[in-house]
Amino acid sequence: MFAAQLDRLAGLADLGREGWALLVLAPFVGSFLGVVIRRLPEGRPIVRGRSCCERCGARLTPRDLVPLISWLVARGRCRHCGQPLGWFYPGVELAALAVAALALAVDGVEQAWLDCLLGWWLLALGWIDARRWLLPDVLTLPLLVLGLALAAVFAPDDLADRAAAAALGYIALRLVAWVYQRLRHREGLGQGDAKLFAAAGAWLGIAALPQVILVAALVALMTALGLSLAGTRLRAHSALPFGPFLALATWVLWLFGPLGL
Ligand SMILES: [Zn+2]
Repeated sequence: MFAAQLDRLAGLADLGREGWALLVLAPFVGSFLGVVIRRLPEGRPIVRGRSCCERCGARLTPRDLVPLISWLVARGRCRHCGQPLGWFYPGVELAALAVAALALAVDGVEQAWLDCLLGWWLLALGWIDARRWLLPDVLTLPLLVLGLALAAVFAPDDLADRAAAAALGYIALRLVAWVYQRLRHREGLGQGDAKLFAAAGAWLGIAALPQVILVAALVALMTALGLSLAGTRLRAHSALPFGPFLALATWVLWLFGPLGL
């Protein structure tokens, strides 16, 4: 199964102009996502330019705007004052590039654009939740609507299933949250998680939903285990946000489809 995908990665020349365009575009999308991830939760404007350095406030010029490369050339420091710029922006840019490369490897060029749209969207959501414990409605709800709209246009036969999956996903996680609240007297899952899971339903349909939860829970468990092995103590009330794992699982199920268990 993986041999074909490795072949496709190895045969980068076969990507064609469209595939290369996607790979070149991806880090630029990543730069934009970085701005979204930082500013959206604070209600700061997304479209106004950012300064490249938070210490001296130096403005970004075109030579600072090449994702990854500008950072590498400047060795991760501000060109004006030498302040380390941190890993955040190159990290998001690399992640966006990884999304595009994986999409191309799994699906080829035609489907990869849609894979990337979903993957980048989920990347922003998961990253915001990891930083801020927040899944903004302005990102989850349009994602839900987009999933249903795509079904209406490209797969009308699936529309009813995907609409039902969105409703069911929302209700299921609200129910789990309610039970948890009753048992433990604190909030375990937020409203945002339920809305993100509803969006997953709108993209994937009912059959995939149990597996989204399963994959998300497994990866979350392994992450918690890894963190505790690394010496990070996770107290019950400082548990991990679930959104990043839901986002990752949604994209994995979108790429590979429900496993025939
Ligand atoms: Zn500076």
